[in-house]
Amino acid sequence: MGVKVGVLALQGDVAEHITAFREALTDRPGSSVVPVRRVADLGDLDALAIPGGESTTISRLIEKNGLYEPIAGFEGGIFATCAGMVLLADRVDDPRVRPLSLIPMHVARNAFGRQVDSREAMLDVAGLAEPFRAVFIRAPAATEVGPGVEVLARIPEGIVAVRHGRKMAFAFHPELGGDLRLHRMFLENLRV
Ligand code: GLN
Repeated sequence: MGVKVGVLALQGDVAEHITAFREALTDRPGSSVVPVRRVADLGDLDALAIPGGESTTISRLIEKNGLYEPIAGFEGGIFATCAGMVLLADRVDDPRVRPLSLIPMHVARNAFGRQVDSREAMLDVAGLAEPFRAVFIRAPAATEVGPGVEVLARIPEGIVAVRHGRKMAFAFHPELGGDLRLHRMFLENLRV
């Protein structure tokens, strides 16, 4: 059966998320990937991707577009990367972000220090047979996770991949680099 994935299209690397999910869904006939800007766009989605970008800006635009309650109450799968991970938390170290509390975790923005702009690391991720080349860009990290949150990857700076039911959050950018194993894991996990 086809899957309908929405990508929150307020700010950030929206096009990369759309391309990656379209690619990951080529073997699932009847699937579609659409941008989400308004409440009505959320209606019939199986999953929502929240992109990387600037979490303070995305948070402000979520409020402005009346999307806070609808997204906080969204019951499908969520695939969040970087700024998206910040938004999914229940506590964030920056008052300009109103977290959606979709995953019980505390997240620090820019957990790698201000001077570190970006870096790559070969990361062991639970559920993947081979390491994943993770691209970190001014990345956050979870400092604490609540009950029911599965830690999928951890590095010295903190927790960088988690799963909570059908919701997954990554401090890095699986939508960049062409390796779609985490997208596939997420799509498999929607059936849970
Ligand atoms: N540091 C950014 C933020 O907290 C996230 C960076 C990114 O998404 N690449 O919004």
